[in-house]
Amino acid sequence: MTKANRFYIVDDDPITVELLTRILELEGHAVKSTTSSSNALRQILQWKPDCVLLDIMMPDIDGLELCKMLRRQPTLADTKIVMVTGKTYEIDRSRAFTLGADAYIVKPVSATDLPQRLQRILEDRMELVFWGVRGTLPVPGKKTVTYGGNTSCVSLRFANGQVFIFDAGSGIKELSDFLVEEKQAPLNVNIFISHPHWDHINALPFFSPLYDKGNELDVFGPAHGDTSVKDIIFGQMDGVHFPIKAKAFSANVRFHNLKEETLSIDQVTIRTMLLNHPGYCLGYRLDYKGRSVCYITDNELYPKDSPYFNVTYEEKLIRFIQGADALIMDSTYLEEEYASRITWGHSSVNRVTEIADSAGVRTLYLFHHDPDQTDTEIEEKVTVSQKLLKESQSTTRCIAPREKEIFTI
Ligand SMILES: [Zn+2]
Ligand SMILES: [Zn+2]
Repeated sequence: MTKANRFYIVDDDPITVELLTRILELEGHAVKSTTSSSNALRQILQWKPDCVLLDIMMPDIDGLELCKMLRRQPTLADTKIVMVTGKTYEIDRSRAFTLGADAYIVKPVSATDLPQRLQRILEDRMELVFWGVRGTLPVPGKKTVTYGGNTSCVSLRFANGQVFIFDAGSGIKELSDFLVEEKQAPLNVNIFISHPHWDHINALPFFSPLYDKGNELDVFGPAHGDTSVKDIIFGQMDGVHFPIKAKAFSANVRFHNLKEETLSIDQVTIRTMLLNHPGYCLGYRLDYKGRSVCYITDNELYPKDSPYFNVTYEEKLIRFIQGADALIMDSTYLEEEYASRITWGHSSVNRVTEIADSAGVRTLYLFHHDPDQTDTEIEEKVTVSQKLLKESQSTTRCIAPREKEIFTI
């Protein structure tokens, strides 16, 4: 951990208290604890720790009750409350958040993951990870080792343990393996599908949390006429295209058809915008505590001298991505490649850079690379973008994220 913090542990099991204390002290933190929840409030008020770890099932005052009492104390407004419990039920998790908990960790805790997780909770940052950055087709091989060959999949994790996923291209298999290895159950996952082209949905059947009882999953995306998001997902799991049918999902899975709208999940606001691409394709903007991430793929920005150029659409898009901390955007082509692919539904890096600059975006992440592009050609796109940004004295920076690269927002 980067900074030493003060933790207070409340758990009636002395072995758990000792284990948590050791893990935290090894990281250089100051730790105090009690096995009696009735003593906790007074001591916490005196010490004002940065973070309180609370068990739920305790004699005297249970952890949820104690959480409620702590949240009523104005002097503890900056103290994070993390439930650390053996209770895996959604009802307890949602009650904890309603009562003001910042995070919910299910025991047993892992000594390797816990410090990192607590750090994320203390900083309340979003963790952005790229699991697949390619468009159209997975392209493993020597020419794609640096940036990776998997198709679109990006995850955003929040301090409260929620996982947001954008698209289910082949990259989602790596994410699935990571979540399984992490053994954090039950999982609370929101999957946002941009549109049902294969490179954005075809690996969803390999997302194993769908098959685990107790997990809660919500799948959002645009319907296509009378074909709902549920029909689209079930359609590729019909026993013909894939041998396992969607009815094998053991998790609690809900499907939501989205149009252009605004929705809220806990403290996250999600807005959608229809993009310029064949069929219905949605771009997403997430805002969380003053920080924002936009996921805009697949999308075609026409050259300004093109008869198809639509100023109203571009202005709307600029407003949508305005001031974003992270803009993940379809920048499939180099300008010379785009010239022979007009109306294919994707953009040149030049136009994407221009629009990111106009919108005052902090970081532009080049995304959805053409399957024929090598690592060298992706680097060429970064060079082009950085040069354009420099020429216009922009404050926007541009990078091409690599598979499994992690960013904190
Ligand atoms: Zn695509
Ligand atoms: Zn597409």
